Amino acid sequence: MDQADEQNFYYASTPRPELHAPLAGDEVFDVCVIGGGISGLSAALHLAERGMRVALLEARHLGYGGSGRSGGQCILGYACEMSTLEKAVGMGDARRMWDVAVEGMQLQRELIARHSIDCDYTAGHMILGLKRRHDQALREELDSLATRYDYHSLRLIGRDELRTLIASQRYSSALYDSNGGHLHPYRYTLGLARAAASAGVRIFENSWVTRLDVAQSSTADNLAHTVQGTVRARHLLVAGGALLGRLIPTLANKLMDIGTYVAATQPLGEERARALITNNAAAADMNWILDYFRLSADYRLLFGGRVSYSGVDPFDSARVLRSRIAKVFPQLTEARIEYAWGGFLDITLNRAPHFGRLGPNAWFVQGLSGHGMVISGIAGKLVSEVIGGTAERFDMFARIPHRDFPGGAHLRRPALVLAMLWFRILDLL
Ligand SMILES: Cc1cc2nc3c(=O)[nH]c(=O)nc-3n(C[C@H](O)[C@H](O)[C@H](O)COP(=O)(O)OP(=O)(O)OC[C@H]3O[C@@H](n4cnc5c(N)ncnc54)[C@H](O)[C@@H]3O)c2cc1C
Repeated sequence: MDQADEQNFYYASTPRPELHAPLAGDEVFDVCVIGGGISGLSAALHLAERGMRVALLEARHLGYGGSGRSGGQCILGYACEMSTLEKAVGMGDARRMWDVAVEGMQLQRELIARHSIDCDYTAGHMILGLKRRHDQALREELDSLATRYDYHSLRLIGRDELRTLIASQRYSSALYDSNGGHLHPYRYTLGLARAAASAGVRIFENSWVTRLDVAQSSTADNLAHTVQGTVRARHLLVAGGALLGRLIPTLANKLMDIGTYVAATQPLGEERARALITNNAAAADMNWILDYFRLSADYRLLFGGRVSYSGVDPFDSARVLRSRIAKVFPQLTEARIEYAWGGFLDITLNRAPHFGRLGPNAWFVQGLSGHGMVISGIAGKLVSEVIGGTAERFDMFARIPHRDFPGGAHLRRPALVLAMLWFRILDLL
């Protein structure tokens, strides 16, 4: 465990399982999955359930990426607006993509129940408006999702009722989704890993894939090389999220890895914690640089926010998040921050998910853009469908057009910092 790991509340609140041994030598499987987050593990599990021999290679430990660090908020839809998808692929496919996202929420609950995953799943999610412009946008969202997407689990909450749900003066309205929720993301990830291992998946940790030979014909095998061995497999899935780096430069060009942070207060006691969020839903505000928060099962406030476009820099995230918490819940000014950690988001330019093919039998999923708690699970299932011979739903996502981040390898980060300054100004208006 490195220094940053010790600051992660989820790692600290989970009995750490014994590490799976690293890959050593050359092995042959039907499928090789790269990445031990929810996307890779869900794909591996679903593929093993189809009777395939699956190897999963994880560079560090399971849940090392966003899946073991996230705010744990199970949010409806995608990180982009549905209108972005409508423009990109047309109304018909946008509607089918929405249905996939809704199915993802159902799948998550099914996986938790079927594999008895103890991850504190709690129903209920709220998107919070801060100003009149947001209140109007939430009303329009409710109408649009009901009439155009046949989605009916939303309820609009006005200022007075909201005051009884969240003990903060900051918010003017909310869109409550009974279908959303929150969970302990690391325990969910490890639960999927246990299910995958019992279904026969061979998991290798500390197995960093340093080179890939992607087969160019459908009758050849793909090769994934680590320092200590090689996996040869007819099918390959790359699900390395924000941590894939430049292993595949064409994929890296479509992503910006953005640092983001979460803090956990000391346990507040049941009464005090429940008074903060009386319906125990997760909540996220509508700012570009958003705050999001929820209660943990041991009655801490878990509060996320503040992004860094220069990477996860060594700034004092506990101090910065404490001042954000004080803005939302001034009554918590004295509460101690016991954990504060960061991680990277894999953001695409249009914030739509980026799925596709690297070769006739090689696929990738990435770009969940900070919205992956739900979508990663169903993404893994879609990969199992395409490898199982039904490409329709995966290919629909693969048709979403994606552009490289402008500015090339050197200038794109400064360009984004400037863009984000602009978004900060918008939040103030
Ligand atoms: C701080 C933070 C808060 C977040 N909050 C939320 C939230 O509240 N709600 C929400 O929906 N989403 C949230 N997200 C995003 C969400 O966590 C991700 O979208 C999701 O976990 C992505 O899952 P994944 O399996 O695709 O990738 P990851 O979980 O990142 O897993 C990828 C894995 O691949 C491994 N890997 C990378 N390269 C290699 C290689 N070459 N060889 C072998 N292994 C490799 C990595 O080590 C990593 O373990 C948050 C993310 C962060 C960082």
